[in-house]
Amino acid sequence: MDVRGWWGLGGGVVVDVVVVGGGVVGLTCAVRLQGEGARVAVVTADEPARTVSRIAAAVWYPTHTEGDPRVLDWARRTFDELSEQARRAVPGVVMRPTRMLLRGGDGSLPWWAAAVPDFRSTAPTGPAGGHLGEWRFTVPSVEMGPYLDWLLGRFTVAGGVLLRRRLARLADVAELAPVVVNATGLAAGVLAGDDAVHPARGQIVLVGNPGVHVSVRDEDNPAGMTYVHPRSEDVVLGGTFERDVWDTTPDEATGRAILDRCVALVPELSGAPVLAQLVGLRPARHGGARVAIDPVGLPGGRRLVHAYGHGGAGVTLAWGCADEVVELCRGPVAG
Ligand SMILES: Cc1cc2nc3c(=O)[nH]c(=O)nc-3n(C[C@H](O)[C@H](O)[C@H](O)COP(=O)(O)OP(=O)(O)OC[C@H]3O[C@@H](n4cnc5c(N)ncnc54)[C@H](O)[C@@H]3O)c2cc1C
Repeated sequence: MDVRGWWGLGGGVVVDVVVVGGGVVGLTCAVRLQGEGARVAVVTADEPARTVSRIAAAVWYPTHTEGDPRVLDWARRTFDELSEQARRAVPGVVMRPTRMLLRGGDGSLPWWAAAVPDFRSTAPTGPAGGHLGEWRFTVPSVEMGPYLDWLLGRFTVAGGVLLRRRLARLADVAELAPVVVNATGLAAGVLAGDDAVHPARGQIVLVGNPGVHVSVRDEDNPAGMTYVHPRSEDVVLGGTFERDVWDTTPDEATGRAILDRCVALVPELSGAPVLAQLVGLRPARHGGARVAIDPVGLPGGRRLVHAYGHGGAGVTLAWGCADEVVELCRGPVAG
């Protein structure tokens, strides 16, 4: 049987790598692989615009990630790439001044400060009283609607093929290419048989932007994690980080509480029209993201490279992880 024809890869199309997953992690890997000369197909159950990645806030900030050297390297590389994209006016990418309000701590800098050129620690400023100090820094901030469109456009213009299929098993694409990248986010728990993968539910409220442009975070607010991320037309208000909760329906009371906390943090938001309430399940993983060659692989000696479990930092780590995925895909493969 001509499996390529069955998959819509007819017409003499041959690929070097199949990336399973069309969220920010999969598309970024696909684009990076193309940059190294690989012919790439992306197989995705959902359109990129209907992924968790589309819901992301999505600012560069390595929250809930391990502070190990590999993660710092991924975060730094992504910071540099997104900063360059902001300079080139890539759709949806801007550099955003940020205040992180501190409620405690010993005054030491966060492990990721080394990746942020203008990071500084200051006395409290602004209206949000009761805080012991602030971190101030400028980081990339991404509007995922236009950005995913841009990534997808870049991928297809370079000859990439996007196929819509929900795989029952990763082995179902083993015959299409010598290397398969598993970038299926939360679904990797089942597809890779990985018990460490779990959802971290995030609820956000979108309001019209009354003219604010600084991101403000109060992560340790005892009433709940609080953040305000302005975008071109709206402001993302958050949020929640609820491990092992699978419910994707926005909760009214939670939404109201988010709004109240954010208005207390940034009073200019008072009266801003509520545009939407959204919930996304972050693909969290105990032990951090899995970016590694699978020790067993796929039938026919095909290589399987995992890239999933980025939790609340998929946008923050995407380009650095993609660099590592490219390295893991290199080299001869059986078949
Ligand atoms: C409210 C909220 C706020 C966030 N804020 C931030 C932020 O500020 N900064 C940040 O860095 N991150 C943020 N995140 C986290 C970020 O959204 C995720 O880390 C990131 O989107 C994960 O990307 P992914 O490509 O791994 O997964 P996903 O976007 O979930 O994509 C998974 C892909 O796999 C495909 N797939 C799944 N199963 C199958 C199958 N069986 N067959 C074929 N394809 C399949 C899906 O269709 C999809 O294309 C936030 C998340 C939420 C919910």
